[in-house]
Amino acid sequence: MQLDLGSDPRTEILRRMQHALIGAFGRIVRPAEKRRDPVWVLVHGVIGAQTKTAASNASTDALLSEFGSWEAVAEVAAADLEKRLQRQTFPSVAAKRLRDCLGAILKERGSVDLRHLSNLETAEAIVWLETLPGVARKNAAGVMNASSFNRKAMVIDGHHRRIMQRMGLVPAKADTAKTYDVLMPIVPEEWSAEDMDEHHLLLKKLGQTHCRPRKAACEGCPVRADCQTGQE
Ligand code: SF4
Repeated sequence: MQLDLGSDPRTEILRRMQHALIGAFGRIVRPAEKRRDPVWVLVHGVIGAQTKTAASNASTDALLSEFGSWEAVAEVAAADLEKRLQRQTFPSVAAKRLRDCLGAILKERGSVDLRHLSNLETAEAIVWLETLPGVARKNAAGVMNASSFNRKAMVIDGHHRRIMQRMGLVPAKADTAKTYDVLMPIVPEEWSAEDMDEHHLLLKKLGQTHCRPRKAACEGCPVRADCQTGQE
């Protein structure tokens, strides 16, 4: 006799969440033309600590526009990079991380190019990306999901992690990598890479509105029915 182990009940919660969040906030779909080159997404993440997305977008575009290629950016001294990264919250940290990261890719690949990752499974590509200086799980998953790679990988930012913890879907003290490792196996199998991207963007919206860092405003939260904290 074969036992029917059933699916993880958290998978159904993720489905209900997606439905409820789209109902509350509308569709948040990244247009195909906004899927950037993987190196652009990597650079954006490496310089982006504690910085608003719009500022990191502008800094990343400005670097490529001024120097013309990521190989040229890799040759710029850290002090000169720092002058160009003044929009970032931590310009000196961003400059050093960027120089170290681009230098590591250049040394290993001979050019600043991530096309070889398209031949790898997503999990293998993430392991490779995480060997680079300044690259952790959020950025590695972003390179695979939000770029032209368009792979199934969940991007976990601070909003996403906090909401999953408060909802009881991941352990209370799970860091980003642990949150990713817990969530990926329970993501609904029918979700595409675009669905995962939209899920991340919807959770970001929820974290900026109801489930804010200091105090959760559970009253009226669209996912309260499935949230452990919201039921307390
Ligand atoms: S019910 Fe409250 S704790 Fe739960 S996700 Fe909504 S705002 Fe956050």
